[in-house]
Order: sequence, then structure tokens, then C-alpha cells
Amino acid sequence: CAPVIALDGPTASGKGTVALRVAAVLGWHVLDSGAIYRLAALTVMNHDVVLTDLTRISDLAREMRIHFEQGRILLDGVDVTSSIRHENVGNLASELAKEPVLRQGLLERQRAFRTWPGLVADGRDMGTVVFPDAPLKIFLLADVDARAHRRYRQLVEKGESADYEIILADLKARDERDMNRLVAPLKPAEDAYVIDSSALTVEQTVERVLALWRQ
Ligand code: C5P
Repeated sequence: CAPVIALDGPTASGKGTVALRVAAVLGWHVLDSGAIYRLAALTVMNHDVVLTDLTRISDLAREMRIHFEQGRILLDGVDVTSSIRHENVGNLASELAKEPVLRQGLLERQRAFRTWPGLVADGRDMGTVVFPDAPLKIFLLADVDARAHRRYRQLVEKGESADYEIILADLKARDERDMNRLVAPLKPAEDAYVIDSSALTVEQTVERVLALWRQ
């Protein structure tokens, strides 16, 4: 099996950026598993599905045609790179993520990303459920205020409207849902290294992950 670095943590902990940089240094593939949940949510929105019809939702998620190529994400041939980042898609993704049948439906799709020379897998349950045998597991923490500030700055830099209090409340609500769901709740694997990035730069965090991999 190709090696995996499992990188889990809460929303806006910086996992995505750290995963991309670590993968670039090692020359490995990246799995943005949150994007897979967002693609499932977008698929549900694109079809006329009742949200209680979990069998249909899970079937759609198993069958959706997704492609990740050079930073672009395609769903059924359509570029959805920016639309899956919308707040309403993220919220539906986090609602659907509570459902065991959907999580099960997405399991093999995520494992298929494990190819040579290696994979950096970013998510909530990479170390606990999807790749429990990963040789390195990292749980990336950052306190909720640090994360809200980062998200706020990102939005302002993109020229989008941003309200700090709303961002903070949204992050807290999402943490609450991710940590308290019955299946695959957000928590560090027993053998994960916990890194608190509240006071670290992206570069420092990347260095810590690489140092753990090389040790
Ligand atoms: O990381 P991102 O915000 O893109 O993920 C969207 C939602 O998908 C999260 O709020 C979380 O509830 C869910 N998710 C998950 N398991 C993963 C990745 C994401 O439950 N491995």
C-alpha cells in the first residue's frame, strides 16, 4: 500500500493549505475529503431529492462523476471549483455528513486516492476511519478565534463581504456538529500527533509535519 499522511482537524484549521504544501514537497497526491462531501451535497441540490431519502442520496454519492485535475474540481463534467465552496453547500455537506449510509457510500471513493508515491489526506476522519493504518496521523488544532480570523482575512482578501461575528458563530456550529455526531465524530486518532497551529505560520506547521514524517 502507498503511504498516507492523515491530516484531520476542525473547519478552517489550515489543514487544506498544509496538506497541499506537504504533498508538493513530497511529490504526493492530495485528497480533499471535505470536497467529496461538498460534491455529494451539490449533487443532492442538483437533483430533485427529498432530504430524508437517504438511500437515494447515498446512491447519488456513489455514482457521481468527479474529477480532480490541476486544482480544478469537476462534477459530471462541470467545473464546480468555486460553487462547492459556497456556504449553503458547506452547510448541507455538514448535515449530510451525519448520515452513516452516506459516509459508507463515500468510503471506497476516498480510499481510491491512495496511490503511489503517497497520499496526504485532509479531513475529519482520515486517521480514525478512512485510513486507520496510515503511518503518520496528524490532528491539526487551532482555537476558534484564530480560525475565525483566518477565514475573515481570506474573505476580505478575495473582496467578499465578511462579518466576523457570523463567521465565528458558523465555525462554532460546525465544530459542534462535527464533534457530536454519532458516526465518525471529529477527534484525534489514538496514535495521532496533535499540533496546535494557533500561533504557528503555515510554513512552521508544514515543517512540523515534514519533520514528523522524516523522523
Ligand atoms: O472541510 P470542509 O469544510 O470542506 O468539509 C465540509 C463538511 O464535510 C464538514 O463540515 C464536515 O462536516 C464534512 N466532512 C466530514 N468528513 C470528512 C470531511 C468533511 O464529515 N472527512
